[in-house]
Amino acid sequence: MKVNENYSFLIDVASTCNLKCPSCPQANPKNPVRRNELMEPELLDSILRKATSECQISFVYLYNWAEPFLNPKLPDLIDIVNSHNIPCGVSSNLNIRRNIDRVVASNPANFVISTSGFNQHTYGKMHAAGNVERVKENMIWLSEVRKNTNSRTRVEVNYIRYLGNLDELVLMRKFAASLGFFFRQSIAALFPLERLLKYLSDSQKKERTIDEEKELFEILLFPYEELMQLSGPFKRFPCSYREEQIVLNSRGQVQLCCLVFDPTRFTITDFLSDSIERIRELKRGQDFCKSCIEKGIHTLGLRFGPNLRPVVLKKVADYYSEAGVDFHNLPRTSNGLWFDRSVRLLKESARRSIVLRRLTREAVTRFPVLKRLPGDILSLE
Ligand code: SF4
Ligand code: SF4
Repeated sequence: MKVNENYSFLIDVASTCNLKCPSCPQANPKNPVRRNELMEPELLDSILRKATSECQISFVYLYNWAEPFLNPKLPDLIDIVNSHNIPCGVSSNLNIRRNIDRVVASNPANFVISTSGFNQHTYGKMHAAGNVERVKENMIWLSEVRKNTNSRTRVEVNYIRYLGNLDELVLMRKFAASLGFFFRQSIAALFPLERLLKYLSDSQKKERTIDEEKELFEILLFPYEELMQLSGPFKRFPCSYREEQIVLNSRGQVQLCCLVFDPTRFTITDFLSDSIERIRELKRGQDFCKSCIEKGIHTLGLRFGPNLRPVVLKKVADYYSEAGVDFHNLPRTSNGLWFDRSVRLLKESARRSIVLRRLTREAVTRFPVLKRLPGDILSLE
């Protein structure tokens, strides 16, 4: 019997990644997932047969914590999702060229390219072990294949922002647009959730985490302190990660949610062994969720955006002002917008604008000059 609920499925079709981004658990030396395990098309088919007999599925994303192109059968896996008439999404760091043409030919509904720089000296720090020139070549190749095959796949570049890669966002956005790709931006955060909760749990653990992750904390834009202050009213909301998603690892095992990583702690059951009602019950009974909901973290990213925007904006302003940007004397274009190159010049100016560092959050929202900085860099959307 079908339950009257709609789920999206996030399914890792590989278990590891070829890169080592500093904010990702795949880069953590204590990462418990060491071997690359790949999902076979037969297993995916069995999972979707069972799932479609039990519930509605709005979307199947063939990724969560791993690089799907590591699985050489990715095109077959997309074909299987399509054969169940469910829209399919893939996301890649696009350092691997193998199978790009076959993946495009399989016509997934959505293809996300995650990136964090336009030049190698920047990209190589954020997408560590990656090569942005190879990514750009692969983007061009992807765009050509898409045109030649009249593919309907929506391709979107997701630019992950840190302090230190904001200047190059404009360049990547232009490049993406020239290839006919959509562009969005997100903010790098401290993940996975178990690591974030440890950080937020008490001041000692927080100090230790900052100490262990010094370099990462220096470039993270995410305003955790403010998030905690704002989260109170959101604690009463149900967790949509828990209620609306089913997350599976490459073995077909159900994970608590898409925000946690460690399968040795957060594997709930085998998807094929338990009914969807039982899986929902098991997920709802997890103690770990209590500490997450108690802090309001379960609504992270879903409801806080507009409230956090001024704080992020101030962090960006501090960063540039520390590098000596004189916000009052930036050149403007005839239509009143700042030149793109102004953004690149920001860090190169004299170190004099300490005034900005003293601004309160409210003052930043009212500070008219900051509002004229390119919206892409400051917006949270
Ligand atoms: S590319 Fe994605 S999965 Fe791979 S290390 Fe970076 S953030 Fe993690
Ligand atoms: S409450 Fe937190 S840990 Fe539990 S499913 Fe939701 S986001 Fe994940």
